[in-house]
Amino acid sequence: MTYKVIYDEKNCTAANRCINIAPKLWKMGKDKKAVLAGGHLNLQTGKQERLIEEKDLEAYKETALICPSYVIDIVDTKTEKSVLNLKPTRDPEKEKVPILKAHYDSRSEWKMDPKGFFTIKPFPQEGLLRARYYDGSHALKLTIEGKSAEEIYNTLVREGLVSLLEHAAYLGSELQKAEIAMKKNLPYVQDDPL
Ligand code: SF4
Repeated sequence: MTYKVIYDEKNCTAANRCINIAPKLWKMGKDKKAVLAGGHLNLQTGKQERLIEEKDLEAYKETALICPSYVIDIVDTKTEKSVLNLKPTRDPEKEKVPILKAHYDSRSEWKMDPKGFFTIKPFPQEGLLRARYYDGSHALKLTIEGKSAEEIYNTLVREGLVSLLEHAAYLGSELQKAEIAMKKNLPYVQDDPL
């Protein structure tokens, strides 16, 4: 079976997720927009296209599903139907979905993660962030060091050092704050506003 990758470069928002996960399939083009490697421009539709085989389908599918702008489609060449089964909500329909007012009550909703906790500190001169991991008995077990919040939170999730979603979300936001403080040379105190 063969498939056709159809890429609408005009509406690519240069998020570069496709390039990050599949640099052989997607290249960086002008304005940091992605270019479909080995593809050609369909002059009628203005979109880039490339025929692929079954063995490559999953790799292309992964890049299409991670694209936040839904500009990558893959169709079965026999049926001409998309194999992605996506139903993205587009403007102005987005305004019609219900709004849930956010709230947080730290007294009733805060829970200690049984896996332990972290202290976070930026080191601007070294360009590093350090997260110290303490287990449930408050014993320091590990220091995770990295250049970005993203590196650190992905590492601690990969290593299984968090067990609560709330804790993972807290660490993501706190690490991001520490990264901003590090890059802008701002004072950083964990749990305080920047
Ligand atoms: S992930 Fe989508 S929006 Fe981002 S660069 Fe690739 S094609 Fe463009």
